[in-house]
Amino acid sequence: MTDDDYRVWHPWTRMGEFARERPRLPVIVRASGSTLHAVDGRQYLDACAGMWNVNLGHGRADVVEAIAGALRELTFLPNIGLPSPPASRLAAALLRLAPEHVSRVMFHSTGTAAVESAVLLCRQFFRMTGQPRRTGVIALERGYHGCSLLGSALSGYPEDARWLGPLPAGVRHVPAPDGEAAARASAAALRRLLDAEGETIAALVFEPIMALAGVIVPPAWWVEEVLALCRARGVKVIADEVVTGVGRSGAWLACPDPRVDVFVLGKGLSGGYVPLAATLIGEALFEPFSRADGVEFKSGSTMDGCPAACAAGLAVLAAIEAEGLVERAARVGDGLRARLSQGLAGVESVAAIRGRGLMIGVSLRGFDGAMLNALMHRFAEAGVLMHPAYGAELAIMPPLTITEAEAERLADACVAVLRAARGSDATASRGPAAVSRR
Ligand code: PLP
Repeated sequence: MTDDDYRVWHPWTRMGEFARERPRLPVIVRASGSTLHAVDGRQYLDACAGMWNVNLGHGRADVVEAIAGALRELTFLPNIGLPSPPASRLAAALLRLAPEHVSRVMFHSTGTAAVESAVLLCRQFFRMTGQPRRTGVIALERGYHGCSLLGSALSGYPEDARWLGPLPAGVRHVPAPDGEAAARASAAALRRLLDAEGETIAALVFEPIMALAGVIVPPAWWVEEVLALCRARGVKVIADEVVTGVGRSGAWLACPDPRVDVFVLGKGLSGGYVPLAATLIGEALFEPFSRADGVEFKSGSTMDGCPAACAAGLAVLAAIEAEGLVERAARVGDGLRARLSQGLAGVESVAAIRGRGLMIGVSLRGFDGAMLNALMHRFAEAGVLMHPAYGAELAIMPPLTITEAEAERLADACVAVLRAARGSDATASRGPAAVSRR
């Protein structure tokens, strides 16, 4: 194929750099488990489980068969206005794992749409219950919630407004709870905001562990305080568990307080086999919709909750339970983090290693964009396919099925690459993805 024949425009990718680098990038043509196979025969450990979603690993016959079976039996059934047995089965399976007050499940096709739907749901709830002024949303600086216009407004990255703005008004941000002092500042800012504008706020959206920001685990007291503040002001709380949910954090749900109004799941829910996301909704939010004649929830897309997606979700949940992958994520994640911490102790360019379960953040110091890209090439040369998170952060999130031996190999490769990393990398050619984020 000549360069002129390559016409894919990759999102979140600096296409100028990508065009220059493309000849050096691995061309992955096959994958199984945690291993990616390139066209030239090279193999790579998948340090990011695709895009933090291939939680069961690649090429699982059980999931593939479940999807194929569903497609053969019932290619498509609209999820709008008709009972859907596949959606009903997956909803029941999800509700068994959810806190007791959660009673409804809505399906979506992307995490972006699911978060947006949760926000719209809260807004319509307040319209229907006589509080039409509640339209505002609070989110965290450096939180990521998707790429729609509202998703970009919710995500706390000023560059989005610079390039895409003006973004929808009515979204306010408070600092990320990145450490004890920042968490105190975050809670204080939220309190001030709610004191001043609480009656116009519909919802707060947050990631229980902030993935793209570099795997920031807020102190447990911060979550308690934020939920208490929101409850006291009648503000609904949406936990964006698109990355953390369904086991990746070493728990089914990462939020330490179950009393949130909507949990959003995505990514790992289908293990990356087909597009699937879900919102798990508390009964209190559903109640006015159950009573109202002549009003439906004004959102939803054609493919949401299609039979093949629901079959994938059911197969993934069954495998996670049968194989104890939630506990495994906690155990293997602890081991991987400990091995990284030990191997990288005293390395000047590593500022912090943090995380929970198989979400591990390595915070780098003194790396600019070009150096980071060069570092991605070093990882590839060491047999590891890695994508950077935002800024100088690595987010290591392999499949939950990664074997202990593979996890050790991954840790040792990361240690070797990061120990050898030098500022001179900045002058080397740039890294595999030229990815600006995600
Ligand atoms: N929420 C979080 C926390 C995410 O990390 C992402 C994607 O990375 C999204 C929402 C958006 O999900 P999707 O890319 O499926 O639209």
